[in-house]
Amino acid sequence: MNTPYPDFLEKHLTEKDITALKERESIHTYQFNNITFVRLSQEYKCYPRGTVFYDKGIIPGYPKIMRILHLANGINRYFKNKFYVEEKVDGYNVRVAAISGTPIAFTRGGFICPFTTDRIHDLIDINFFNEYPEHIICCEVVGPGSPYNTEIIPYIDEDVVLFVFDLLNEKGNHLPVEERYRIFERFNIQQIRRWGPFNVSGSTSDVDAVKNIILELDRDGREGIVIKPVSDGKPVKYVTLSSCLRDLQATTHLITELPAGFFTQRILRAVFFCHEFGIPFSSEYLISSAKALYLIPEDTLRAVAEGESVKEFFDIKVRNKNTVDELIQHLNRSGVRTQLVSVEKSGDYYRAKFYRIYIKGTRELRHRLMGKGFFD
Ligand code: ATP
Repeated sequence: MNTPYPDFLEKHLTEKDITALKERESIHTYQFNNITFVRLSQEYKCYPRGTVFYDKGIIPGYPKIMRILHLANGINRYFKNKFYVEEKVDGYNVRVAAISGTPIAFTRGGFICPFTTDRIHDLIDINFFNEYPEHIICCEVVGPGSPYNTEIIPYIDEDVVLFVFDLLNEKGNHLPVEERYRIFERFNIQQIRRWGPFNVSGSTSDVDAVKNIILELDRDGREGIVIKPVSDGKPVKYVTLSSCLRDLQATTHLITELPAGFFTQRILRAVFFCHEFGIPFSSEYLISSAKALYLIPEDTLRAVAEGESVKEFFDIKVRNKNTVDELIQHLNRSGVRTQLVSVEKSGDYYRAKFYRIYIKGTRELRHRLMGKGFFD
């Protein structure tokens, strides 16, 4: 079937591109506020996954960040000049752009994020867009009031907080870090924590300083760092030992839902961390990891055996009641069924409780319980 695509796409993609994207089923059109958006669900040529096209321009997808597992050697390998260390916080990624004057938040996959768009005035000074109407703010939203993440964030007690970590100009280029720091400071917009500048060439003291930052973040229950060059080059990411354990604790109930690589990656990151820092695994860490890997799935299996499904619970607050429906629709698109439990007015907000049911993960556990065999 030939779906008609809006004319503005021709400014960015040839007919051949559009045909190729259609064949891969990675181009999708949707409407929001009477505006047509086209999103890419996979990377294509110079456009990262999540790139969005609309009549006035492009919102480039947020690029993947390379990971290093050996901090010192990674720094020495990739950073020959001045760099900054930014904290890496573990929430969800959104890009905020002013579309016809209205700030809208886009998810990593290029959908509108109804929750962040609803709460944007609480999270950011949108006067920023008066001066920079075509810039795109890239940020992480984090906290127990997130509609997407269930990991316990030890440093945020309630609701969500937004931290900005990148800025794209009207041409879609990432602004140099120091320029971005200055701009956001001027608008008093909450930036991600940072250290630096550092200059690695021949200096062990700067590498040691970064290692000390990681140890401090590890002790404080933080996720990690993203190291960013001041001028040329690409950023790299590195995470703490404690974040590997928190990731396991937050996800092993989804052991039949997530790819096995998700879990082995966390184990490998932890093993590399201890190797480099000369830290032996403490008994406490080993016991907590084993509990996460065995006891949480054991609880999940018991619940499924008793007729329950694999679930995750959320408790969020929004300004508009409609946002709850939009959010549920958005979540249901990903193949994870979402069930609303309650919506209550609470001051200027609506508090919504809902849960997500992991159908694939539940089905797999049920089949195994029923004795169905499989090849592994
Ligand atoms: P990738 O982004 O490489 O595809 P991913 O989606 O699995 O990987 P992570 O491994 O958590 O995500 O790391 C990258 C993400 O970290 C970024 O997309 C961004 O959302 C988030 N992030 C948090 N803090 C920062 C920061 N200071 N700079 C850049 N990204 C950050």
